[in-house]
Amino acid sequence: MLIGDGFGLAQMSALMYQNGNRCSLEAFPVIGLHKTTSYDNLITDSAAGATAFSCGKKTYNAAIGMDKDTLACRTILEQAEDRQMATGMVVTSPITHATPASFIAHVPVRTLNEEIAEDFMDTEIDLFIGGGQRYFERRADDRNLIKELEAKGYYIYSYFNTDLARIHRLDKKRNFAYFSADNQPVSAIQGRTYLPYAARLAMPFLDARSEKGFFLMIEGSQIDWGGHAKDAPMMLAELKDFDDTIKEVLKFAALDRETLVIVTGDHECGGVTIQPGSKFKKLDLAFSTNGHTASLVPVYAYGPKAELFRGTYDNTQIYFKMVEALGW
Ligand SMILES: [Zn+2]
Repeated sequence: MLIGDGFGLAQMSALMYQNGNRCSLEAFPVIGLHKTTSYDNLITDSAAGATAFSCGKKTYNAAIGMDKDTLACRTILEQAEDRQMATGMVVTSPITHATPASFIAHVPVRTLNEEIAEDFMDTEIDLFIGGGQRYFERRADDRNLIKELEAKGYYIYSYFNTDLARIHRLDKKRNFAYFSADNQPVSAIQGRTYLPYAARLAMPFLDARSEKGFFLMIEGSQIDWGGHAKDAPMMLAELKDFDDTIKEVLKFAALDRETLVIVTGDHECGGVTIQPGSKFKKLDLAFSTNGHTASLVPVYAYGPKAELFRGTYDNTQIYFKMVEALGW
């Protein structure tokens, strides 16, 4: 599953025109639309948006893996673990940020980064790549979760002394984690390039980890940040990075033929429009807000059971459609 944070219809069209009509999404045979509204707000945040995908429940903005009554819900990633599938997450935000957190953690408020990091100890997630190292090792409670993960058998690497691009193959006998930043990874326009590579590294690894298959969540986390900053070059660079990542996933899925690929966003951000005077690869974008909007968000599906994702539905249906596709 690929989530473009802040990836709405306008961002999708910007991607198509920025790349001169050679966008990865055009290879997808199935398109749907989802409604992003959360339990308590017409305009969702990433926590409620991602919890809708991970648990199939509408919840309040800021809730991580919890329903509207703050009861923890078992996420699709945790259920995949229960069924001996391999699981992974690859993101360009801190790994404790709202979207990845909503697949693995259960806290009432998204800002509780250290508590979210603790919830990684309660799973056997096979692979994770993202920022947020500080929440694992420089904590108010003095626990060192990196040491604890190593004691559990993880190989752990850090941007601090290892370039991810120098890691060419992962040992399939052990779980793997890579911290790409102490807190937030830099943006694509500042030179961050690891997301497509991380996706390419993760898929064969997870595929080899279990005979039961794998669940992988990949997030292009910073498309949203481009929207909040009303920064068109930043947003376009993040969209390109997301597109390159989708291409890697499609390459794997086309060969594998057993992998369902779902691409969507948790919400739109920025109320983006392409302005008159724009040209292919040279877009003039305007923003109507520096926040999220309630625009419908596209869903692209490829592979076995992709047809389930056709139509217009609530964001919570994405969870139920994945469950149906998995035959659970
Ligand atoms: Zn946002």
